[in-house]
Amino acid sequence: MTRLIGAHTVDAGGIHMAALRAGRGGMDALQIFTAIPKYYGDKASIRPERVVRFRAALNDAGIAAANVVAHAAYVLNTATDDEVKWQRAAAGLRKELERSSTLGIGAVCFHPGAATGGDRDSAAERVAKAMAGALDAVAAGTRLLVENTAGAGMTMGRTPAEVGAILAALPRRLRARAGYGLDTCHLFAAGHDLTGSPAALERILDGFETAAGEPPSFFHLNDSEGPLGSNKDRHVLIGEGKIGTEPFRWLLQDRRTAGIPLILETPQESYEPAGDDPSPDPYDVRMVKLLRSLAA
Ligand SMILES: [Zn+2]
Ligand SMILES: [Zn+2]
Repeated sequence: MTRLIGAHTVDAGGIHMAALRAGRGGMDALQIFTAIPKYYGDKASIRPERVVRFRAALNDAGIAAANVVAHAAYVLNTATDDEVKWQRAAAGLRKELERSSTLGIGAVCFHPGAATGGDRDSAAERVAKAMAGALDAVAAGTRLLVENTAGAGMTMGRTPAEVGAILAALPRRLRARAGYGLDTCHLFAAGHDLTGSPAALERILDGFETAAGEPPSFFHLNDSEGPLGSNKDRHVLIGEGKIGTEPFRWLLQDRRTAGIPLILETPQESYEPAGDDPSPDPYDVRMVKLLRSLAA
């Protein structure tokens, strides 16, 4: 089965330009932000002309909308025990799902946030409650996916058990519209050593699959600047970090990387291309080529 390789390309000029850059970079998948990620975006909607331009660009790029993931704002903390902040994060998540479903794309991924207050069980329930609110508010289509985290402080989503607990707390009727994805840098930073052997990597994926009751719905393919267990969320180019190239070969040979978006979130050579320049980033081109050779 094919490996759907893509990246979170720069959206200078608009998200349709991100799609064109991905297409020119030979990608099959894409990740975007649908609003400025450092704000809640709980009021931001998407204008119809932007939707039309984006869909046309995807078509031009040869990327199926199902293979596009929107990354939610980083500030949304749906795990918090602060009621005011939780309300705002839940509203932000709902809007993320609404914008993505307007675009007709496959999924929204989000970081579950920090278990302020200290109790991780009730934090998992709060995350699930925010997810349920979003899924109930937006008609079926785009899925909502929890992303594993690097595990700094009280952040949720470090372990298979935490990801599993969030998904298990969802109402059954919504469960099929939810899932999770794994970021290799976050796995490593959270203490999951995927560098030992293909079997060690497989055991880590098995752990998540068992706890969640399903395989991941996307991967973020990033090398890690920080060492194992450092909780440091710093992505570097594949082969230039503490994970190294070989574990990515093992991962790309695993059945669980088939047919789902595999998204690079590695550094760009330029973060400020001209708004009308559809050329792909040279680093992305190099990374896509590397991943294809590892998958072969
Ligand atoms: Zn992320
Ligand atoms: Zn990260």
